[in-house]
Amino acid sequence: MNMTDIKSMNIEELSSLMTQLGDKPFRAKQVYSWLHEHLVTSYDEMTNLPKALREKLSAYPITALQVADVQVSKLDGTRKYLFCLSDGNVIESVLMRYKHGNSVCISSQVGCRMGCRFCASTIGGLTRNLMASEMLDQIYRIQDITGERVSNVVVMGTGEPLDNYDNLLRFIHILSAEGGLHISQRNITVSTCGLVPQIHELAKEKLQITLALSLHAPNDAKRQELMPIARRYSMDEVLDACRDYFDKTGRRITFEYSLVAGVNDSDEDAAELCGRIRGMNCHVNLIPVNPIKERSFVRSTREAVENFKIKLEKCGINGTIRREMGSDIDGACGQLRKSYMQKTESEK
Ligand code: SF4
Repeated sequence: MNMTDIKSMNIEELSSLMTQLGDKPFRAKQVYSWLHEHLVTSYDEMTNLPKALREKLSAYPITALQVADVQVSKLDGTRKYLFCLSDGNVIESVLMRYKHGNSVCISSQVGCRMGCRFCASTIGGLTRNLMASEMLDQIYRIQDITGERVSNVVVMGTGEPLDNYDNLLRFIHILSAEGGLHISQRNITVSTCGLVPQIHELAKEKLQITLALSLHAPNDAKRQELMPIARRYSMDEVLDACRDYFDKTGRRITFEYSLVAGVNDSDEDAAELCGRIRGMNCHVNLIPVNPIKERSFVRSTREAVENFKIKLEKCGINGTIRREMGSDIDGACGQLRKSYMQKTESEK
């Protein structure tokens, strides 16, 4: 962690900082509340702090993302935000409005090195990890701009969250802590492509978050075609890690399954998948894959998706077809960032 990144500090670290700066530890609670509850972006706004302390704190810059672009869906009000980081990198976040509340999907890295074949975010590789403050501020800015409370958070945007493990844990603890937005861990979902050692590590933390595992295939051979990570960890190892997660946390696993026409959407694929996950406490999210122009994948037909779901249900496995949000705005995740970067490149 960057030692001056004040928004990534937990309350204990903030208390030590106050002592180090020659002030009272109780000031930590005030600063924490300004940063994580009132979502201010400058020390001038922290009106109950003495001026001398505010001056000392100016050596600890407050992470505040700048909006570079917003796209609003005319169909369902979904908003895609493109945020600029202090080093000029850009990341994407999405606000989805549901009847049960507002949900924000955030990025955890700038780019991604996992190379999933159906994903636009990985095409340029990984640039860097996001700090906890940069993950938090995607939610804070969106709540601040819209004036609407965010009640659900999914870490499912650009990046593999478990490849940025320490910052992710820090982010979850601050997001769910009292004195900040205090979002229940049950309303936080972390999506992984299946980094087995980190899933076992996360299980030991005994958090109440939902783990979503990108499965996308019923066997190793097909999974390896779609996801290079499957060459490192077999499906058996990944599913064992998911069982361990459930055993240690009691939290039901969500399996994400993107349906690609002619690749993983047949009756045989459904039957094989059932054989692998039957008996697990799980739920399957079926996602009609978003076409991206750099790859030749074609989305499964509505009928094939429905049929796949019925096949799972016959085996006693619950499935949901993910409702597409914001389908009239820049397509799959990572594409708004990509088109922005291409535009910036062509203007150079
Ligand atoms: S799907 Fe997720 S893990 Fe896979 S390349 Fe895209 S961002 Fe990375």
